[in-house]
Amino acid sequence: MQMSTAFAATPVEQPRAFEGEMADSDRVIAFLRANKGNGFCDPCISLATGVESSNRVNQVARPLSLTKEYARRISDCKRCGRTREVTAMISRP
Ligand SMILES: [Zn+2]
Repeated sequence: MQMSTAFAATPVEQPRAFEGEMADSDRVIAFLRANKGNGFCDPCISLATGVESSNRVNQVARPLSLTKEYARRISDCKRCGRTREVTAMISRP
């Protein structure tokens, strides 16, 4: 088998740690986007997205909530129904 070296160089290089972090936040963002307007607690987001722990979800969701598109507040979680700190993507009119 002949290995082509023409495409060996990739245009973008990402450090491993950063890549992992992106994957978790991408999963959380995709989940919240799919359930726009509904708030979910960290453990439920963790279970729904496969992000390994609710602590990890917290690390991702906290900075998200500082942006205009997301909110974090005490409310009923849409998944487990408990009243706790939930994160939601805000639905815009
Ligand atoms: Zn929940």
